[in-house]
Amino acid sequence: MRAAAMAHYTNMSDKKQKEVVKFFNSIEKSGDGDVSTEEFLDFVRKKGFKMELPQNVFKLLDENNNGTLSFEECVTFFYMITYKKFSFCKGCEIFLSGLHFVCVKCYKADEEKSFDLCSSCYRNKNHSHEHTEFLDKDVLIISQEGIVGKTFNALNAKLKH
Ligand SMILES: [Zn+2]
Ligand SMILES: [Zn+2]
Repeated sequence: MRAAAMAHYTNMSDKKQKEVVKFFNSIEKSGDGDVSTEEFLDFVRKKGFKMELPQNVFKLLDENNNGTLSFEECVTFFYMITYKKFSFCKGCEIFLSGLHFVCVKCYKADEEKSFDLCSSCYRNKNHSHEHTEFLDKDVLIISQEGIVGKTFNALNAKLKH
């Protein structure tokens, strides 16, 4: 994900790049150039994310495991938020980073308001949702050869260059 995020960053307009820098500066308060766990937690709390999220995400973002996030690692974070590669299980509210399930009906109605479940909540029916058809998110994207598929492919193609 980081390579994709950096490739994306490089191809951004100046205006967008400034936005990323601003985003980074809003997390990195101490001015030492790295985001510490405290700074990250502070930011996440202000944004109103669930407390179960931060450790998960911080670890995920901190690719070299040095306990702080560099600018590049924060670009990944920005990318995740901007492109909604950032969702939570509607059952147990954990951060969903790998395989998870999405309500087909809700996803088709509005991609941004999709109803997501982790595989264990899906399996154990730990949710009360009006629809019953769920699909693995990756499978769903591939199966939507319409608008969603095209957007996805276009984005992918862009990232490869
Ligand atoms: Zn869950
Ligand atoms: Zn639904």
